[in-house]
Amino acid sequence: MQIHRIRQLFEQSPVDQRIAVCGWVRTRRDAKGGFSFIELNDGSCLKNLQVIADEKLPNYESEVKKLGTGASVRIEGTVVQSQGKEQAIEVRAESVQVYGGSPEDYPLQKKRHGFDYLRTIAHLRPRTNTFGAVTRIRHTLAMAVHDFFRARGFFYVHTPIITALDCEGAGEMFQVTTLDLDKPPRTPEGKIDYERDFFGKRTALTVSGQLEGEIYAMALGNIYTFGPTFRAENSNTTRHLAEFWMIEPEMAFADLEHNAYIAEEFLKHVIRAVLESCGEDLNLLDQFVQKGLKASLEHIVAAPFARMTYTEAIDVLQKSGQTFEFKPEWGQSLQTEHERYLTEVHLKKPVILTDYPKDFTAFYMRLNDDGKTVRNMDVLVPQIGEIIGGSQREERYDVLLRRMQEGGLNPEDYAFYVDLRKYGTAPHAGFGLGFERLVLLCTGMGNIRDVIPFPRTPGHADF
Ligand code: ATP
Ligand code: MN
Repeated sequence: MQIHRIRQLFEQSPVDQRIAVCGWVRTRRDAKGGFSFIELNDGSCLKNLQVIADEKLPNYESEVKKLGTGASVRIEGTVVQSQGKEQAIEVRAESVQVYGGSPEDYPLQKKRHGFDYLRTIAHLRPRTNTFGAVTRIRHTLAMAVHDFFRARGFFYVHTPIITALDCEGAGEMFQVTTLDLDKPPRTPEGKIDYERDFFGKRTALTVSGQLEGEIYAMALGNIYTFGPTFRAENSNTTRHLAEFWMIEPEMAFADLEHNAYIAEEFLKHVIRAVLESCGEDLNLLDQFVQKGLKASLEHIVAAPFARMTYTEAIDVLQKSGQTFEFKPEWGQSLQTEHERYLTEVHLKKPVILTDYPKDFTAFYMRLNDDGKTVRNMDVLVPQIGEIIGGSQREERYDVLLRRMQEGGLNPEDYAFYVDLRKYGTAPHAGFGLGFERLVLLCTGMGNIRDVIPFPRTPGHADF
């Protein structure tokens, strides 16, 4: 018999039909009249299916009455209208096949566990209501990302994971090597001889696919990447991971205005997808994780995002009368406390900040005519702060070279990138969205470690 998913049963209510379901026991309760209630979950949805197992089942005493939380079973039986008002349907079991029992030391007994503790059992936490909900929302977001770009004719491009480039020029990269670290080959000057490393040069895990993405945008027009990125930054915050997923669209013949427009449309599209198809999971998170989550997501999609330049934002912060840990000052980068003040207190909605000072921004951002600021943007959202960083790219050959030299970069290391400005250069723009920050926003979870299946952070790479 074909196995039904519990979600399907709730959607279709096939009363009087014989069906089979498989899943894990959440609870078992033995009732007086000679039968037991089994709450079964198969991960397809939040809700459990209630199964009624009668004492006449041949394995009732030997197996059914011993079923513990976490055990896995296959049930065959008939769907009936439920007597209880908790659920519309339930299943009367005609057979209960036990695949695997689950002894009493199963760590997920019926009580609420702290997220810190659940992180230590990341192999079992997807079986909890919260992590099931987060996982289904994460999936919905990932599919919505592809839907959004496909509908607009963007091509999905795979950029490399191992790279010899440092996109941010910041050097916070994980080195990739097959050299023997105990006795690496040396050059005559005593330096490590990377020519004898696997790739014949020094390589690392990518921090961004942008530079390679630009290559494809300058041939196919509109492209996006959606892949893992790695940052060896030692930031122990609730918004940073050492391994995270990034979505990076890149658009030829686009300026910053268009970039900001696409970023806003994109965020609204993926949030709407969650509102439309994850109602039950959102309700759970709204009730137990972040009160008002659903209303805050509806608020984000309902109105246009605010726009402000960096210079205007500094002005607002300075006149706010707030005491910040870091004093807001023109020329300094914005701290999370500043970003959150702007979105949560001052504007009470997402804001797209543009035109930051060139001194702390990347070399590839297009220089403005004032010579002091660049055509970049950060999209800030309540609770999280920066969720998107992007810019119009510097397409002018001479200006790019000057910016690289000012930043202490060797243009020869970026020869291909400079070439794109030599052969058929064109205005273009793009942005990067940290996928886990988006999942944080849409689930109301407080810690980025709890929205990726197996988080990697300083000191932690389990599973
Ligand atoms: P932050 O200032 O928050 O560290 P950033 O300026 O370093 O971010 P970008 O280099 O612009 O970030 O990266 C693009 C996007 O990737 C960011 O807007 C953010 O959503 C996400 N991101 C950056 N670093 C991390 C990280 N360590 N973990 C998870 N997401 C990240
Ligand atoms: Mn960073």
